[in-house]
Amino acid sequence: MKYVLAIDQGTTSSRTMLFDERGKPVATAQKEIQCKYPHSGWVEVDAIDVWLSVADCINEVLVKNDLTGDDIDSIGITNQRETTVVWNKKTGKPIYNAIVWQSRQTTAICESVSDKKQLIHSKTGLIINPYFSASKIRFILDTVPGAQEMAENGELIFGTMDTWVMYKLSKGKIHATDVSNASRTLLYNISTMSWDEELCKIFNIPMSMLPTVNPSSFNYGDTIYGAPITGVLGDQQAALFGQTCFEKGDCKNTYGTGCFMLMNTGDKPTFSNNGLLTTVAWQIEDKVTYALEGSVFVGGAVIQWVRDEMKLINKSSESEDMANSVKNTGGIYIVPAFTGLGTPYWDDDARGAIFGLTRGTNSAQIVRACLESIAYQSKDVFEVMKQETGIVINDLGVDGGATANKYLMQFQSDILETNIKLPACLETTALGVAYMAGLHTGFYKSMDEIKKIHSYQASYSPSLDKSEVTRKYKNWKLAVEATRLFKSE
Ligand code: ADP
Repeated sequence: MKYVLAIDQGTTSSRTMLFDERGKPVATAQKEIQCKYPHSGWVEVDAIDVWLSVADCINEVLVKNDLTGDDIDSIGITNQRETTVVWNKKTGKPIYNAIVWQSRQTTAICESVSDKKQLIHSKTGLIINPYFSASKIRFILDTVPGAQEMAENGELIFGTMDTWVMYKLSKGKIHATDVSNASRTLLYNISTMSWDEELCKIFNIPMSMLPTVNPSSFNYGDTIYGAPITGVLGDQQAALFGQTCFEKGDCKNTYGTGCFMLMNTGDKPTFSNNGLLTTVAWQIEDKVTYALEGSVFVGGAVIQWVRDEMKLINKSSESEDMANSVKNTGGIYIVPAFTGLGTPYWDDDARGAIFGLTRGTNSAQIVRACLESIAYQSKDVFEVMKQETGIVINDLGVDGGATANKYLMQFQSDILETNIKLPACLETTALGVAYMAGLHTGFYKSMDEIKKIHSYQASYSPSLDKSEVTRKYKNWKLAVEATRLFKSE
């Protein structure tokens, strides 16, 4: 029997998973990665450490299961998006640490091109923000002596983590990326589906540094393990695919530290006026699928806060029993704007608040309101998606650590007035890219077949009165408004 090997190169760890023909995970290996924080707000990682962690995971999953490269049908790579590596084409050595997506060290570079906001949005579907790769490349070329000149001479190349891992897996033969990763760089035109000369000029980035862009399901070439790489996707797009959100209007939300909601918007990009990002979901053969994306900065992290800072619980999982131990929140609302607010507010200056406290407010009600805040923030994104696309969303696929919380999931279904479905395999990121890789080789016959073998472990249906939903959501909106009025010191 053969397997698809999925490599999931994440921010805090790398992971490998083997999937069988039914899309069942049969083995996994994981290695933590140490990020570096050289200055406040800066996040970097040694790209060689990242490659080592990936190689270790591949070796471990093969050795522990008594397998070799011959047992692998194909390899899929999914990755933390936007994180940027620049390396020397001759030596294969990075010239600077990889700059991680979260890092804010390029704020000044972004401000220097803020007059190009409109143009950049219309070509890339993104906003100007340090998250995306372009300002990170600029930073490296500015910081390493002689780098700009070397780049102009064609001696340096750039890649996101998929590109870097592929380069290493092929001993330097492959310098490529897929459309979903390219669409997160600020240099890729998502309408013409090509690197954009004008955008590269704005950031003064030589186009010779850029990888070849291929479809997500494509034979990228063979690896040192023998098996070819036939699927590549950014992590959120992989989760959308792993949730089998194949049709226009299909939507998923991931409940991790933050929340990421993506909606398949079909074969044309939908540009948002309310802070949703437009992105390429994937390309299979010549068919491109687009997505809208919204994010909540503090999702599951609010539960870490009540655990680690407020010390109201010892373990995240205790939040469920605690929430169920009270009848209601006693009318309190928590807006966890610890680091500002994401979609649709994009308010960097907002800070958190609790409203409606009384002498009787207790810790269980606070925990319950924290869980509800995750659901309300996700509803904010959900409402904008519905509004901007005019699509009625009947089902929401969910994944991520906080989906283990049944109180949260039921409340989410109630407040969204939508069914929620939890897949059997919650590692939808790895699963998505495994599906993508296997589709190319025929390991998975078709997207229809994938739909058939995809299974669920739980679902939730809305059960709250419409008037209650309206009342609660109105109060939430008021709480957000009031939070934003307050200017923290
Ligand atoms: P990430 O990939 O961002 O590290 P995970 O998908 O591993 O995140 O999810 C971890 C997050 O989920 C943490 O913020 C944690 O507080 C939250 N979480 C985990 N289990 C529960 C639970 N039972 N109830 C509520 N939140 C939870």
